[in-house]
Amino acid sequence: MPDPTSSAPCISVEGVTKRFGPLTVLNDLSFTVKPGEKLALIGPSGSGKTTILRILMTLEEINGGHIRIEGEQLFHMPRNGGLVAADERHLHKMRAKIGMVFQLFNLFPHKCVLDNVTLAPMLTAGVDRKSAETRAMELLELVGMAGKAKAMPAQLSGGQKQRVAIARALALQPRIMLFDEVTSALDPELVEEVLNVMRRLAAETDMTMLLVTHEMSFAHDFADRVLFFDQGRIVEEGPPDAIFRNPREERTQIFLKKII
Ligand code: ADP
Repeated sequence: MPDPTSSAPCISVEGVTKRFGPLTVLNDLSFTVKPGEKLALIGPSGSGKTTILRILMTLEEINGGHIRIEGEQLFHMPRNGGLVAADERHLHKMRAKIGMVFQLFNLFPHKCVLDNVTLAPMLTAGVDRKSAETRAMELLELVGMAGKAKAMPAQLSGGQKQRVAIARALALQPRIMLFDEVTSALDPELVEEVLNVMRRLAAETDMTMLLVTHEMSFAHDFADRVLFFDQGRIVEEGPPDAIFRNPREERTQIFLKKII
């Protein structure tokens, strides 16, 4: 396991600003993440948590600041101003480092479970079918879905779809995994099976993980560090025990009182 106390940052966000029209969604946001660290991003709806994950995934561009992934700049400044993702080749290389699982299971509906997991390695990483399938079966085993390899997404429960989505994100062997409220669209009885898979991943791999969640008890158990967001800024951060049991800031206290 990497030692989170001694390594250079895996992700470095410095003074990032993001606007949607007149709305400033991230306001001079800065934080770093060490290799192997597990981070939970919590805070009120609309505070910018999903937006920063989408930016890290280069699904959104930024208006100011710098982001480095493993020391490399994610965005550059073109001649006409603003900060945009670098050229396609660089983008491809950076994206390969990061896997993301979204709130809504976005599996390809016309492909079986196995094909959902093998597609990206075969198409974007040039992996041959046999190797892609061997690896996909290992990942489906890891998420407890190997028995459903030939099933179609429509035949699966929400929890099962989300576990396949996790296997699919892992198929490109990312160093960083981003989870955006992956259980919030699930029926309550299906939440635990997905959280169990994530607990296992956190315990058994040295991937860096960032998690946006409203499941505070899960955030407490999963994270090495919790970032509390409000209005596009980090108001408070610290180890889960400090944030959940003894928050310093009034805004954190009010939020936790409401949600727990
Ligand atoms: P959170 O994940 O903390 O709930 P988000 O990052 O999803 O917050 O959203 C932050 C703010 O940005 C919200 O006010 C949201 O409405 C706004 N927003 C997010 N995406 C867009 C978009 N594509 N266009 C306009 N506004 C957006």
